[in-house]
Amino acid sequence: MKAAALGIEDLKAKIRDVPDFPKPGIVFKDIMPLLADPATLHGAVDQLAAWAEPRKPDIVLGAEARGFITGGALACRLGCGFAAARKPGKLPWRTVSVKYALEYGLDALEMHADAITPGQRVLIHDDVLATGGTAKAKVGLVEQLGGVVAGVLFIIQLDFLNGDDQLEGYDVHSLIHY
Ligand code: AMP
Repeated sequence: MKAAALGIEDLKAKIRDVPDFPKPGIVFKDIMPLLADPATLHGAVDQLAAWAEPRKPDIVLGAEARGFITGGALACRLGCGFAAARKPGKLPWRTVSVKYALEYGLDALEMHADAITPGQRVLIHDDVLATGGTAKAKVGLVEQLGGVVAGVLFIIQLDFLNGDDQLEGYDVHSLIHY
């Protein structure tokens, strides 16, 4: 099937539910089948880009690991740069850091201190919006560095976890809702 002809149901059909991963009670939304299929990969990136384009981002910010994959593709599609938020200790240069709560634990994210220049419009992207802790941490990093959040964009949103409550006042969008 051509990417342009794909609807949300076609994307949804390529998302695999993995029960009890990474721990009991969590249903992991695995996007690897969607990424592996050229039509759904292209279709998902096209649909993300269609929402992002009018918000005129300068740079896409993705967090490891899956946010790097679609975030990089999206940045390229939009003609933007890409900035990485990583787990502590992974980035080689001077960093800024934010701690946050995850659906399944506590964590922290870091960015290079020069990854965003003041006034740059930053599109925050990830595969899944769950509790919103990760996205809120990325908002914190962007604003620490003087960037402007142009939008917060996901492939999947788990509505029952109310993650968008953490992002009140920001322009938030997800392609697929559960
Ligand atoms: P949160 O901070 O709770 O919104 O969690 C979002 C981050 O954790 C994203 O980077 C997701 O990739 C990952 N994540 C959390 N819950 C899930 C889930 N049920 N399925 C897949 N990824 C998840």
